[in-house]
Amino acid sequence: MGKAKIIAGNWKMNKNLPDAVTLVNDILKSSDSKNSTIILFPPFPLIPAVVDLLKNKTGYFVGAQNCSEHLSGAFTGETSSEMLSSVGCKYALVGHSERRQYFNEQSSVLTGKIKQLLASGLKPVYCIGEKLEERKNNFHFDVVKKQLTEVLSHFSIENMSQIILAYEPVWAIGTGETATPVQAQDMHSFIRKCIAEMFGTDAASSISILYGGSCNAQNARELFSCPDIDGGLIGGASLKAEDFCKIIASV
Ligand code: PEP
Repeated sequence: MGKAKIIAGNWKMNKNLPDAVTLVNDILKSSDSKNSTIILFPPFPLIPAVVDLLKNKTGYFVGAQNCSEHLSGAFTGETSSEMLSSVGCKYALVGHSERRQYFNEQSSVLTGKIKQLLASGLKPVYCIGEKLEERKNNFHFDVVKKQLTEVLSHFSIENMSQIILAYEPVWAIGTGETATPVQAQDMHSFIRKCIAEMFGTDAASSISILYGGSCNAQNARELFSCPDIDGGLIGGASLKAEDFCKIIASV
């Protein structure tokens, strides 16, 4: 049997508490996690409420959109992996393109975040992907390989069994423009090849590589049927229960 597909919803800076409760309840009413692992990434203040709503719901988990690269201390405004663990988070996004773009997060910081998450028993979802200019100039494979090697070379094969990857071409995030299944599959297979070179073929075949970038109810099925696509990281379409449930049903 293959790996269970992962469908993850990145809410970004959207939803307040009542909206979040409605969204989660609507997702629970209409979705079925039988064929997949479903992870919701609400904003920090909403995490405990979402954890509570998903308690005892098999196959549903909560993640954070970010965490600090530091253990604890005088870092005003930051949230540690240990705090996330203590409120029931099981996953966290690392290196989302918006964090790279607006908060200038570089490989050394992203490495530190992944170290903290692993030490707290959380699974990092490490996001990688090229910008439009880089693809137009045919640098997309080089860029993604650099993002992989600069960070993942600090980790062991054992660590890799806890890490998930998300390929998100920046030009497809929130733009309505999706990578074609061929473009996505080509990159996912390249990423798997990079992981095989670094950690061996077993690590490469077992790691989950999600696709993200304007994935929606219409294109999800075709993307998820590609052999190297192990699920999706969904932004905009995860904010409406109906759309998100259709994506879950596409697995
Ligand atoms: C994302 O932010 O991770 C994402 C994929 O967004 P969208 O689905 O809206 O493109």
